[in-house]
Amino acid sequence: MDTLDIAENLRRIRDRIAKAAIAAGRKPDAVTLVAVSKTKPVEAVLAAMAAGQAVFGENRVQEAEGKFPPLRASHRFDLHLIGGLQTNKARDAVRLADVIETLDRPKLADAIAAAMEKEGRRPRLLIEVNTGSEAQKSGVPRDDADGFIADCKGRFGDLLVGLMCVPPHDENPRPHFEWLADRAAKHGLATLSMGMSADFEIAVAAGATWVRVGSAIFGSR
Ligand SMILES: *Cc1c(COP(=O)(O)O)cnc(C)c1O
Repeated sequence: MDTLDIAENLRRIRDRIAKAAIAAGRKPDAVTLVAVSKTKPVEAVLAAMAAGQAVFGENRVQEAEGKFPPLRASHRFDLHLIGGLQTNKARDAVRLADVIETLDRPKLADAIAAAMEKEGRRPRLLIEVNTGSEAQKSGVPRDDADGFIADCKGRFGDLLVGLMCVPPHDENPRPHFEWLADRAAKHGLATLSMGMSADFEIAVAAGATWVRVGSAIFGSR
């Protein structure tokens, strides 16, 4: 994918997000685009930055470590970690990320809290909910979400900004997005990270404030 394609794809996705927001009676700038650059080279990230993109998502700590820290000196951006996080990677994640979107269990909350102390760095946090109760997927089980959200609010305070989900591939995502929006409202959390290349417009209609779009910007993986 060359630089011009990435710039054009970004322009198109931003336009579709704004139109979906307006159609839902929301402000055209109500939604932040998180450009998911996993598996793509740093040149692709730089092309997106040159086209005005400043929020990026990566799944793997190690891959993100190779790409993003060297860009801090010359570029302003927010890096979101959006992949399931191992406890032993918590310290690297806290050092690297501006946002960790995948807090999903008490042991990881412990590890992140300890890492924040050690690193003196405080990324914002989202709780990932496994809305489809899929066995292999990360995310707090749907039935445990209320208790875990309340615990994390008590522990992290304003650093906990919202909820994130990845609905099952083979299901209509809309009920999952609506369920997540309900939970966020119930807990007074303003940020809703939901929607990917295939379904971000549905997510925007359901109230997403962040959409995570990869292949529609950077090409298939
Ligand atoms: C890869 C990924 C995305 C982006 O997916 P696309 O279908 O390429 O837009 C979004 N969120 C998560 C958690 C991902 O792993």
